[in-house]
Amino acid sequence: MDAKQPLHSGSLLVSSAAYGSHEIIVETPSRTRQLWDLGLPAVIELFGVYMQRINALASAPGIRYVSVFKNHGGSGGASLAHSHSQVIATGFIPPIIKEESISVRNGICRYCMVIEAERKGARLCFENRSAVAFSPYASRFNYELWIFPKRHATALSDLSRAELRDFAEILHRSLRRLKSIGVSYNYFLHCASSGSKLHFHLELAPRIAAWAGFELGSGVTINTVSPEAAAGFYRQGA
Ligand SMILES: [Zn+2]
Ligand SMILES: [Zn+2]
Repeated sequence: MDAKQPLHSGSLLVSSAAYGSHEIIVETPSRTRQLWDLGLPAVIELFGVYMQRINALASAPGIRYVSVFKNHGGSGGASLAHSHSQVIATGFIPPIIKEESISVRNGICRYCMVIEAERKGARLCFENRSAVAFSPYASRFNYELWIFPKRHATALSDLSRAELRDFAEILHRSLRRLKSIGVSYNYFLHCASSGSKLHFHLELAPRIAAWAGFELGSGVTINTVSPEAAAGFYRQGA
């Protein structure tokens, strides 16, 4: 791996050499138990490992962003049945992170504003002392859920031990609900990249309905479960 890969820009097309690293985090020694079968201490420990790997890889030469995500089940793109998460460190900031980073402008965070509004509304799924989960307005996926620390933190490592526990507790509860309907899912962490103040969060995307011709051809998503109904589903397990 060469830490300094030039970006080749022609008159029309742009490319660069591949650079980065890819790690697998094995969540349990069991071949059959899944993350949603594990207790809260195991989920808290997993977040501790995420934090360690993000911190280690973010300081490696040439790395600009560390993506942490999980694929569960066939429709979630999981290629291994053994419960695991993945960490991919890249020499570029992913476009979604750049796009979300404009949410903080002139010292004002739009996610902080959304959290304040959603805490009082019909899309609230779970809330504890320092974290909150809601089904986002105009959800893209059936039962989509986002988890935020209520305080404006920009990285997992910004959270205190108690805040990390609260955050993990909400994911644990969310996954127990998904287990009750046995669906595939993805989740991914979104942290601030260097120079950005993005409000740290996790997006949980159950993969029940496939995006098909209309979604791919129009960029418009059809979601048959309203976020208000999704939030009701999560709250039944509260
Ligand atoms: Zn914020
Ligand atoms: Zn996000």
